[in-house]
Amino acid sequence: MTQPRVAVIGTGVIGAMTTWHLARRGTDVLAFDTYSPGHDRGASAGESRIFRTAYKEGSNYVPLLRRAGRLWRELEQTTGTELLMMCGGLTIAAADHPDIRAVRRSAEEHDLDHEVLDTAAARERFPQHRIDDGEVMVLDPAAGVLRPEPAVQAALRAAEEAGATALPYHPVDEVAETAEGWRVRSAGKHFDVDHVVFAPGPWARGLEPLRALPVEVRMITACWFAARDTAAHRPQRLPIAIRRHPEAAFSCFPVLDGVAVKIVPHHLGWPTLDDPAALPRSADPEFARAASAAVARLLPGVTPHPVRIGAFAEGFTPDDHALLGPLPGHRNATVLTGFSGHGFKLAPVFGEIGADLVLRGSTEHDITRLDPNRFSELVRTA
Ligand SMILES: Cc1cc2nc3c(=O)[nH]c(=O)nc-3n(C[C@H](O)[C@H](O)[C@H](O)COP(=O)(O)OP(=O)(O)OC[C@H]3O[C@@H](n4cnc5c(N)ncnc54)[C@H](O)[C@@H]3O)c2cc1C
Repeated sequence: MTQPRVAVIGTGVIGAMTTWHLARRGTDVLAFDTYSPGHDRGASAGESRIFRTAYKEGSNYVPLLRRAGRLWRELEQTTGTELLMMCGGLTIAAADHPDIRAVRRSAEEHDLDHEVLDTAAARERFPQHRIDDGEVMVLDPAAGVLRPEPAVQAALRAAEEAGATALPYHPVDEVAETAEGWRVRSAGKHFDVDHVVFAPGPWARGLEPLRALPVEVRMITACWFAARDTAAHRPQRLPIAIRRHPEAAFSCFPVLDGVAVKIVPHHLGWPTLDDPAALPRSADPEFARAASAAVARLLPGVTPHPVRIGAFAEGFTPDDHALLGPLPGHRNATVLTGFSGHGFKLAPVFGEIGADLVLRGSTEHDITRLDPNRFSELVRTA
């Protein structure tokens, strides 16, 4: 069977993984990106990402997460790079909080190892978190911390070693359907291909064939706070955590740079942007003050003034689940976008699915919930 020639537009983590899977199956792939692999303008940067298996966003993700976990290990072995450190993961909230219930349900339905720590046990095991009366922790041992920048670079390196052509600094300004396939215009040149994979992250609406997709650009800000006792906050002693407290909600990452714990506040809002290019490069002092107050209240072992702040763009859909499938209304086009703040951990399996769709037109993974056609009403009225 002749292999198609494929263009992948966007090499954030999703496009890089799709390129890897296509190339290792012998496909001729050209992978375009406006910027360098692992850059900090989109969604796939900022030192760390959470991997977890007991999934509050929906139990039906668990088989995908298990497959993603195995593929992360495969990519590590292929490239000799450490990408995923399994330090465990905590969900911390009042015992009857919906997230505690959802994460327990997911673990129970799939028979996943997990531990529920009552208030006293939580205080004793993880004193890095200040725990109020009535709060509990659910510990997921199949969780850990991923390194986003090396992960993107490793996936692209593996793809190139398998024969793909990565084209950084190649913004795609036009992509148009032709009688035989697609014509991609970038850096003043035309590239004719049989199939296009759109993996543009938050830039989805910048490309004409994706203009009608309901993908909103939002800014997510991360803050780093210096740990007083760095040893107590390294991954060997501090799992990743998702904290839901009446005064604050955030995800929390152990010290990876030798200095600071990272938090991503959820309670301070993820504002929408017209375009990822509008991402501010300096922090709003009000935001920093509010993040400091949360940390002073709930993380007693860190100095409550950020040493670093970074803002990143991500694409969100109306139901916070990705768009993954054949591009509605077009032939020979696959779209993977709108990962809504939780796509990183799943990227290797989403890349595998992307390659399945290009090469076979279908996949054995269950992606019904991610069907881009589920918003057809919205798209028609847009
Ligand atoms: C701060 C933050 C924290 C997060 N935390 C977690 C977490 O802990 N765990 C988790 O699983 N997920 C998390 N996520 C979500 C996850 O990181 C994203 O879902 C994932 O990185 C999305 O990757 P992507 O490849 O779709 O997008 P991106 O990484 O933004 O990549 C899109 C790429 O397409 C390129 N591009 C776009 N248009 C064009 C064009 N016309 N021509 C050429 N190139 C183009 C861009 O330059 C970019 O490189 C977080 C996201 C953010 C922002």
